[in-house]
Amino acid sequence: MKKLLLGLPWPSCLRVGNIFELDKTNIINIPSCSGDPTMYERYWQEMGDKTTVVIPGWQFTSYFSDAGNLCWFLEPELAKEISRLHKVVGNAITEGRLIVVGTGSSQLFLAALYAFTENDASEPFSVVSAAPYYSSYPAATDCLKSGLYKWGGDARNFTKTGPYIELVTSPNNPDGFVRQSVVNRSGGILVHDLAYYWPQYTPITSAADYELMLFTVSKSTGHAGMRIGWALVKDPSIAKKMVKYIELSTIGVSKDSQLRAAKVLKVVSNSCGTAARPRENFFAYCHLLMAERWKLLREAVKQSGMFSLPEFEPGFCNFFQRLFEPLPAFAWLKCEGSVEDCESFLKSHNIWTRSGRHFGVSPSYVRVSMLDRDRTFGCFVKRLSQIHL
Ligand code: PMP
Repeated sequence: MKKLLLGLPWPSCLRVGNIFELDKTNIINIPSCSGDPTMYERYWQEMGDKTTVVIPGWQFTSYFSDAGNLCWFLEPELAKEISRLHKVVGNAITEGRLIVVGTGSSQLFLAALYAFTENDASEPFSVVSAAPYYSSYPAATDCLKSGLYKWGGDARNFTKTGPYIELVTSPNNPDGFVRQSVVNRSGGILVHDLAYYWPQYTPITSAADYELMLFTVSKSTGHAGMRIGWALVKDPSIAKKMVKYIELSTIGVSKDSQLRAAKVLKVVSNSCGTAARPRENFFAYCHLLMAERWKLLREAVKQSGMFSLPEFEPGFCNFFQRLFEPLPAFAWLKCEGSVEDCESFLKSHNIWTRSGRHFGVSPSYVRVSMLDRDRTFGCFVKRLSQIHL
């Protein structure tokens, strides 16, 4: 295991000659405006060949994975490893649920909208989420101008009558807070996006037990490029419609990716065993990384004096068997004082972020990824700490 990762403070990377040169000439842009989880690369590099998958040319030529299953394109091995990992972590109930696999949870989100809405409804369902909400929700909802559903904005200001779907993201992207539904009208439909309900980010306080829960390898193991997500669905008729949507849009989900995802999830579950060496334990390793990054970020914010960050209450984590404060995948940074457009202000200091505007709130907020590579994160906190009035 290389020492740089956990042993040294992040800004030390800036002392490496050529990187500092790059930093000085502004060649490095800080792509922290996206949520690309490249932080995880290093852990997987450390694991060497443990997750290597070799697929012979003749294998996986069929469309079908499990013809007898409602989700006929779900690889049984992936289904097994998904259930196992949820059991190991204790973050979601899988018993009595159907698993629907998708090309990322982004596809499953659209499949859920399709499944919950009705062709013969007199008006489109309103799709709402409490601001600040994940910026893709409005864009993905309205992208095809469906007659079935329509973006309805901030759930807290939702006054329209008629059918609605509320998206509950917990912990939330962008601000990291644990959330509950806010509209709470009878007949309301809830979709729980639990992409970040993993112990490197937040205390696992109970096994989630909702009607429809979305998960993704993008934020759990850091394999965004694999494009694998899954839904745990209570109602078989909803699962069936989601399967139909995926059938219509992509005739299933890449088997190669599912096989790779199954292997990665298996290695993660195995790493949680007591016999595993502590630094191999995936969640312990990543949790430590997040804790170090949040500490550095809070120090940089303090040093600068121009920004503020959310404060979180600690919670008891059943997985780690201890109390800790949430360590979100994004920093929800606020420019204090007279700066109104935090994104432009930070851009002028060569830090790229995503404005609060995209998340349905004021531009005095920005979202910054906490999951970038060490070098980028190190540059980010250093630059931030040097911004003064
Ligand atoms: N939901 C939330 C809350 C997310 O932050 C993301 C990724 N940014 C997604 C869903 C999409 O995940 P995937 O890569 O699996 O499509």
